[in-house]
Amino acid sequence: MSRRKIVAGNWKMNLDLTEAAEWLAEVDAGLQSDNCDVLVFPSFILIGDLMDMYEGEQILFGAQNCSNKESGAFTGEVSAAQLASVGVEYVIIGHSERRDHFGETNQMLKEKIQRALKNELTPIFCCGEPFEMRNENKQQEFVKQQLEESLLGFSAAAMAEIIIAYEPVWAIGTGLNATPEQAQEMHAFMRSQIAAKYSEDLAQQIRILYGGSCKPDNAKELFSCADVDGGLIGGSSLMAKDFLAIINKIG
Ligand code: PEP
Repeated sequence: MSRRKIVAGNWKMNLDLTEAAEWLAEVDAGLQSDNCDVLVFPSFILIGDLMDMYEGEQILFGAQNCSNKESGAFTGEVSAAQLASVGVEYVIIGHSERRDHFGETNQMLKEKIQRALKNELTPIFCCGEPFEMRNENKQQEFVKQQLEESLLGFSAAAMAEIIIAYEPVWAIGTGLNATPEQAQEMHAFMRSQIAAKYSEDLAQQIRILYGGSCKPDNAKELFSCADVDGGLIGGSSLMAKDFLAIINKIG
């Protein structure tokens, strides 16, 4: 089965409106072909303005997070329904920075996925092991638990709407990427877990991105792994020219 690849830029808490607008213009002008889905995840405050100013079609917009609550007295939070109301289509759920700095648990992430799906947002569910787990060769055990507790309770129809990003914590923002072999092994493992729970067909349909120090000079070999369907890019998505260079590595 051929899965359309994705290159997604997670800006984290970077770029102001002027910088973001320049980025958008430069990336839009630099896109050479429709070789993959191009997604960008600005800070909440910028998304509406950027979507309003964007006249192209190829760049799709997402949020970096959403609340696990429907609505109500949760100061500072943004709900999935609010994101959907301004036309956002994607939402990152379970980034390791959210798990580590804001105490997000597998159970909370399951609730966030529920909210996102209910509002017709496509969740990009992030998972991945910390360094200690990789060091003890327990990475599969660790990721299996993340999948089981957040994801594998959903119906097959819901699962079919979800994108997964394998992001080993030790590779995020460290300059130390997983090798293509390590990425391929984990992506195949995750697909096998989905196949065991649902079906081989569904496992082959779901897109699984790699994230963690992906840059122009390692993207090609990571993206050419059989089970890697593109990348979630942090640091290297901030400069339009690097992001475009990564997009151009998609075959
Ligand atoms: C990320 O934040 O999702 C990420 C992959 O970051 P970086 O590319 O900077 O490692």
